[in-house]
Amino acid sequence: MDRLKKDYRQLERDVVKQRVKEDEGKFVVIDGLSIPKRPYYDWEVIEVLPFSDLYDMYGEHKRLSVFAKKGLKCANPNCKKVATHLIVTKDHGGGRHVDVVDDEFKLMNVDHIVPKSKGGDESLDNKQPMCEYHNSLKSNQLIPY
Ligand SMILES: [Zn+2]
Repeated sequence: MDRLKKDYRQLERDVVKQRVKEDEGKFVVIDGLSIPKRPYYDWEVIEVLPFSDLYDMYGEHKRLSVFAKKGLKCANPNCKKVATHLIVTKDHGGGRHVDVVDDEFKLMNVDHIVPKSKGGDESLDNKQPMCEYHNSLKSNQLIPY
């Protein structure tokens, strides 16, 4: 084998090694689900709850009841993102949060239809489920979906 080929093979091996190292510890298996350990805000996923808990335990929860009562799909009609998992995360200070996420463990948010900055209230009527992406696009504008 000439030197150039040998160097190239070593380079390939190093790249693969590096990738394996980068992936190491990024996923955790909970109840047979392979999930990203730190899917957003670098918070750690520590538990996947039965999805039925959304209705049984959090049906009256201020934020989570929006999903329980108004549906699981992002309110943007062009978006296919749907809440599929109920998870417990731990933030950097050790605080625990219950959140709903989609298949890729991306956070599903609650959107104020009329933004709070424009006089929108905290009633269920003024709230709708929305994926993080569309929620950030919408920001504080009034986009009727
Ligand atoms: Zn969306």
